[in-house]
Amino acid sequence: MNHCPRCDDTPEDLNHLFRGCPKAKELWHSICNPQWLQENLNMPILDWIRTNLKSKSTYHLDMSHSWSLLFVVSLWQIWKAHNRKSFDNVETTNTECFKIALAYAKKIGVAFKEQRSCHRLINWLFSLLGEIKLKYGRMLL
Ligand SMILES: [Zn+2]
Repeated sequence: MNHCPRCDDTPEDLNHLFRGCPKAKELWHSICNPQWLQENLNMPILDWIRTNLKSKSTYHLDMSHSWSLLFVVSLWQIWKAHNRKSFDNVETTNTECFKIALAYAKKIGVAFKEQRSCHRLINWLFSLLGEIKLKYGRMLL
């Protein structure tokens, strides 16, 4: 069974990576209010991801960007921190993850706002297979 490179606990599955790992929990605690954590951290992982990606609420510390955007870039930063530890043995602090996630959320949020005045270049694609893709122009990320 694989061990999580960030906390050395097992099993290293999707739920542990994004929610169960103490490092991931720390990040969610720094971003979210305790009520959100209570309501969200026990639902099945794919329901949790879908629910938060479809959320229309705004981020409570800065109302200018959507929660769904900050949520997905936070998942991305957790994944990147996992890979940095796994492949380069480099620790990434949650303060770094949070700052980077917030910066990306702002940039992507601006791109979404700007596209309202021109043709639609960026949108989210939800897959039934559990994949999450960001479409930007002709590119799929
Ligand atoms: Zn872990």
